[in-house]
Amino acid sequence: MVRVLQTWDDGVVTDIGLAEVCRRHGAKATFCLNPGLHHDDRSFGWRRGDRDIWRLRRGELYEVYNDFEICSHSLTHPDLTALSPEALAWEIRESKRLLEEIFRRGVLGFAYPFNAADDNVREAVRVAGYRFARGVREQAEVIPSGSPWHDDFREFYPSCHFLAPDFWERYDRQRYENGVFFFWGHSYELDGKDGWREFEDRVRGISLDPQSRWSFFHELLP
Ligand SMILES: [Zn+2]
Repeated sequence: MVRVLQTWDDGVVTDIGLAEVCRRHGAKATFCLNPGLHHDDRSFGWRRGDRDIWRLRRGELYEVYNDFEICSHSLTHPDLTALSPEALAWEIRESKRLLEEIFRRGVLGFAYPFNAADDNVREAVRVAGYRFARGVREQAEVIPSGSPWHDDFREFYPSCHFLAPDFWERYDRQRYENGVFFFWGHSYELDGKDGWREFEDRVRGISLDPQSRWSFFHELLP
């Protein structure tokens, strides 16, 4: 048996298609959102290659994501290690408050923007009431034995990025070891070159595997 988790970041319009694929195959997923960056209309985020990346409008967040687990990805996606203590606390607390208002449920998880964190950032996240965060490095053990930080706050480490060439090898290793497999990415990375077909093939493959079980992170908390 392997427990499988996935996180997708940044609240972009292409998450709509990704959420549909997950629903179609009964896959659980966790979305990491910046509530300070969503407005009354869809908004331009940034340019990636020859494509514009757009963020969802605030009013559609509930409908797109409510079937899934929600994590904060901070309020406005800064490098948290570069902020004053006051600005750091605001990014972490206000994002939690806004997401809980939008989704009308507790938000327990955090994903560090740019995968940048230090001990001050981790402590601010813990003190704000989060129970877990996505760790900043990839490693074989998704749940290290013993808490890496505090007993009431745990970091989960990704097994690999969604586009890792050895995705299935890593999956099979965890399956063999009755472990946990956790991949992450951004739905805008699926645009072009068979990305969407490949994503659906992978989700379907995991869902059809009788030895796999999709999980949310809060289900793994002690
Ligand atoms: Zn991000």
